[in-house]
Amino acid sequence: MARIIQAVSPLDTLHRPLRDLRISVTDRCNFRCTYCIPFAESNWMSRSEILSFAEIERLASLFVQAGVSKIRLTGGEPLVRRGLPELVRQLAHLEGLRDLSLTTNGALLAEQAPALKEAGLRRINVSIDTLRPQRFREITQRGDLQVVLEGLFAAQRTGLGPIKINAVVIRGFNDDELIELVEFGRLHGFEMRFIEYMDVGNANGWAPEKTFSKREMLEIIQSRFPLREIGHSGGSAPAVDYEFIDGAGLIGIIGSVTEPFCGSCTRVRLTADGKLVTCLFAEGGFDLKSMMRQGASDAELGKAIATAWGGRADRYSDLRWQRLQSGAGYEPQAHKKIEMITLGG
Ligand code: SAM
Repeated sequence: MARIIQAVSPLDTLHRPLRDLRISVTDRCNFRCTYCIPFAESNWMSRSEILSFAEIERLASLFVQAGVSKIRLTGGEPLVRRGLPELVRQLAHLEGLRDLSLTTNGALLAEQAPALKEAGLRRINVSIDTLRPQRFREITQRGDLQVVLEGLFAAQRTGLGPIKINAVVIRGFNDDELIELVEFGRLHGFEMRFIEYMDVGNANGWAPEKTFSKREMLEIIQSRFPLREIGHSGGSAPAVDYEFIDGAGLIGIIGSVTEPFCGSCTRVRLTADGKLVTCLFAEGGFDLKSMMRQGASDAELGKAIATAWGGRADRYSDLRWQRLQSGAGYEPQAHKKIEMITLGG
């Protein structure tokens, strides 16, 4: 049953409203992308630690009351969480929610896309960093490109859209594939989203020189396909969007490292074990699950959400870019960040 929602939109200490929620539904993943979770095993969350669908739905509705209008499901790999369409169905009915989306590696998409669409999912992002099968295997350690492409096209056939393809661009690894990826998107009607490689977590061995900058990406793509800048969608989306002058669609580029967008970041994250995290580069989060399981009321949980957001001062990427530019030196390991696999991208 739909709930009546009144969004109140608290502002954080830098006057940023709360608008977007990323929910990690599991920390498990069927891939081992070297830039995300390079190790085979991790300190996985136990089943009892993970929020149930009812708990996620309850917290999501409280986030919507606090101002959230867009929710993205992520992970780990969200499609390895059993029964995910049921959660989609519950969230799709939240009054006040304008947008429900999902980020997936696509490996299980062929079998799940129809049920997800039927449950109310509107759009998806599929992560594909390379169109070369060998390279795909190398970066994901476990993935099969053909299976992912089958999932991608199966999702398209169900009518999910727009479908965006996330590609992390790593210098010396796939920076020679930008044109191929753009051509693939144009040919098949997918929006490419190129992402600068970031030092999320501490495990991926990131170094500044591995980041292929947004400016470099644009130069290469523009030399073949002239573009017109549209800007950040909705004013706060991480990607800057561009349209092809010839009308063949859109691409987006996320300059997380060289063009940080902390000033307009309206995102909060909920980990699979119920921690509210106010920044992708945070050291920890606020434990909503314990509060909830100890019997907190909706009003108490709502107040905790508003308080956490109200105290938010994060601007990690701005500060990193200042240090990188000033020559002051930036030591990625000095700051103990939550791993991406736990946090959800
Ligand atoms: N398993 C799902 C997937 O592969 O899309 C969802 C989780 S994944 C962590 C979400 C997004 O984060 C993916 O598009 C992935 O490429 C991106 N990502 C992971 N590590 C990254 C990094 N170090 N820099 C930039 N993007 C990263």
